Amino acid sequence: MTRPKRIAVLPGDGIGPEIVEEGVKVMKAAGERFGYHFEIDFGWIGGSAIDRLKNPLPQETLTLCHQADAVLLGAVGGPRWDQHPPALRPEKALLGLRKELDLFANLRPTTLFPGLEDSSTLKPEVLKGVDFLVVRELTGGIYFGEKFTEDTPAGEKATDTLVYSETEVERILRRAFDIAQLRGKKVTSVDKANVLESSRLWRKVADRVAKDYPDVELTHLLVDNCAMQMIRRPADFDVVVTENMFGDILSDEAAILTGSIGLLPSASLGEGHQGLYEPVHGSAPDIAGQGVANPIATILSVALMFRYSFHDDTVAKAIEGAVTDTLASGARTMDLVSTGRLAYSTEEFGDKVVEAL
Ligand code: ATP
Ligand code: MG
Repeated sequence: MTRPKRIAVLPGDGIGPEIVEEGVKVMKAAGERFGYHFEIDFGWIGGSAIDRLKNPLPQETLTLCHQADAVLLGAVGGPRWDQHPPALRPEKALLGLRKELDLFANLRPTTLFPGLEDSSTLKPEVLKGVDFLVVRELTGGIYFGEKFTEDTPAGEKATDTLVYSETEVERILRRAFDIAQLRGKKVTSVDKANVLESSRLWRKVADRVAKDYPDVELTHLLVDNCAMQMIRRPADFDVVVTENMFGDILSDEAAILTGSIGLLPSASLGEGHQGLYEPVHGSAPDIAGQGVANPIATILSVALMFRYSFHDDTVAKAIEGAVTDTLASGARTMDLVSTGRLAYSTEEFGDKVVEAL
């Protein structure tokens, strides 16, 4: 028998505990079916950690994460902590965790589920076959470059700098090509090489890295054009790789193509196999505690955990298939029902997925 997988589970705030419970349920069911053993350690994070330990990212949680093969996170934050000073804000925990685990690649798949075409603003014929993945660089670029303000004769002046090293660019591009090899073998590298020096470096490195992946087709796209094409012909994309700020914007654009935010999983990866898996959405304080949140984003994040941390595409596909089948059977959570239809609770939907699995 193989060594058990150690999973750090951080439910967090708001709907976090409700959706994570369903994620863990599906993870255990998949484990039983496919012969995995898990050691699960629960940790405090975000507002709930502030309340108990006066720290959004306590040392004991960090230790759990360091020892884990993978981290499953719910969501953090809520109005209760909005008035806190910056160091005591729940959101601080996310940045801290990414930095601590050196998670430089953020993956957001966008897949259209059958039966949900009408929850999107795009026409069904445009959406047909949409299945792509945005790989966003997460630890460099303009969000982390030097910033300052100064007083000048023309008034206040503010500066942000966009810096990337060749090493940073190369590791994210290699990750994108590795992923493309497991998918549709197409990489779209997005930049603004007509005006940005950092983008010219990006493009040069992309061309060089591509030589090591002769089976993967590389296309360069300017970010403004990409924003347009993502809505015009989203089904043509496979892997889209880009720097931090462009990725921030494009991944939100990609997210709305398929309907509810409650459907979207994410993975954040570093150099090793360890990863952080979490839904794209936040803690949804407006519906917390009611048992109506959509657990799909969290369940699909568990699928990504199998794919990217355990390199097991079979189990990942089984979980994704179970979600597809559950939706195809007509089961819907509140965010997906059209009027007059009965909605499943968070727990009922999770049970359905386990059954389908
Ligand atoms: P954050 O700042 O953490 O991103 P936010 O306030 O921007 O949070 P969310 O917490 O993601 O956004 O909530 C946005 C809206 O989407 C809310 O109305 C919320 O109820 C809804 N929502 C978010 N996640 C889910 C879910 N899993 N199921 C159903 N509705 C959800
Ligand atoms: Mg938000």
